[in-house]
Amino acid sequence: MYCIELGVFVNNPLSSKNNIPLPSHINIHMPPPDTSLIGCCGAYCGTCRALLDKTCKGCKLGYDDGKRDIRAARCAMKRCCLMEKELETCAGCPEFEECPTIQGFFAKKGYKYKKYRESLEFIRKYGYQAFLEATRSWKGAYGRLEPVE
Ligand code: SF4
Ligand code: SF4
Repeated sequence: MYCIELGVFVNNPLSSKNNIPLPSHINIHMPPPDTSLIGCCGAYCGTCRALLDKTCKGCKLGYDDGKRDIRAARCAMKRCCLMEKELETCAGCPEFEECPTIQGFFAKKGYKYKKYRESLEFIRKYGYQAFLEATRSWKGAYGRLEPVE
């Protein structure tokens, strides 16, 4: 994006396309938060046992360096989010509330789906940086999220 203050193009930490708020303490000129371990659906790979046990490759890892092919991904959310919409996660999607793919996923039986929804809603409200800070105490793919002051 173009920074009027500096008169240059800067790396937008949270692109306007992603439509995610910037927390007030984050300067727009800071490097972008690393969202590579945040699953498109809100599952957090960085603390997920399956990634640590190497029984899962993670939601997004390996696509940018050609080790994996996104066209072959079985997850519909991931194909849509990363390939079609070119978003970081479904949190940044304008169709989030009405999308049958992500909302159908959240409607599945199981506590974790409720928690993944909570994660994306938290990101939509407070941004990726606040989310990443909250994950520091987690022991799995989801965890405690407190409202940000
Ligand atoms: S369900 Fe899909 S979007 Fe969610 S972490 Fe797994 S691959 Fe990623
Ligand atoms: S359309 Fe649905 S699956 Fe695709 S990025 Fe948006 S919320 Fe995610």
